[in-house]
Amino acid sequence: MLARWTICGTLGCLAISLTYNWIAFRNFDDDALRQGLISAAVLPIILAGPLFFYLTLKMRELASANHQLAELASTDHLTKCLNRRALVAHVEKAMQHSGDAAQGALLMIDADHFKQINDTYGHDRGDVALVRIATVIRQCVRQGDLVGRVGGEEFAVMVRGVTAAEAVGIAHRIRRAVENMPIEMPCGTMHRLTISIGCAPFVGKTTFRAMFSTADHMLYEAKAAGRNRVAARMESEMKKAG
Ligand code: GH3
Ligand code: MG
Ligand code: MG
Repeated sequence: MLARWTICGTLGCLAISLTYNWIAFRNFDDDALRQGLISAAVLPIILAGPLFFYLTLKMRELASANHQLAELASTDHLTKCLNRRALVAHVEKAMQHSGDAAQGALLMIDADHFKQINDTYGHDRGDVALVRIATVIRQCVRQGDLVGRVGGEEFAVMVRGVTAAEAVGIAHRIRRAVENMPIEMPCGTMHRLTISIGCAPFVGKTTFRAMFSTADHMLYEAKAAGRNRVAARMESEMKKAG
């Protein structure tokens, strides 16, 4: 891109400069016309070449900085998942794109008794546990699924193109993977962490708000039923129930 813009920009200036000088000097004698055309060619090459090179370089740096900024603005700094705002935007965009053909589920995931980890082992170990949970979640879902951190020890995942039964299966896979992942704590202690998951499968176009509300409701039920479990309900059934 750098070379292309520099060459095209310089050639553009050269063409304008030569045309202008040819029009201005065409009625002069040959010597004056030649001199005019030589200076019309030399100046753009000396000035426009380096100028286009510098401007293109700066534009490239700016584009890269913008890209990094956009990533920073959409990523949770601790777990490197999407942050809440970015997750909502991505889910809404995916919904618009799929329209009535949309199918999948929103999973709300909350670490069980997480406060105890901070209280017992310290906030730093709590942070490590959050990073491990996020890593396990990402490993259990497909590349195109959306994983976001929506609260302190809460994650939301949108799995796409799956039936309700498959979504529940994925939720169980995540729950088991976290349960089977001991986390080293100070003094060599191994802590076993669990999570509860609320699952809201959907078929057809819906909104993040509706899915979130159903999944959050199911999460509450999973917690109330004793934690370390998955509770699921179709998003459409929730709507009917009011
Ligand atoms: P429950 O099973 O009902 O979800 O219990 P809980 O202890 O997980 O829930 P509660 O809402 O009482 O506590 C959430 C805890 O998560 C409290 C807070 O200190 C911790 N937490 C939130 N954000 C962070 C974070 O970024 N790092 C760490 N280390 N802890 C966090
Ligand atoms: Mg919570
Ligand atoms: Mg919790």
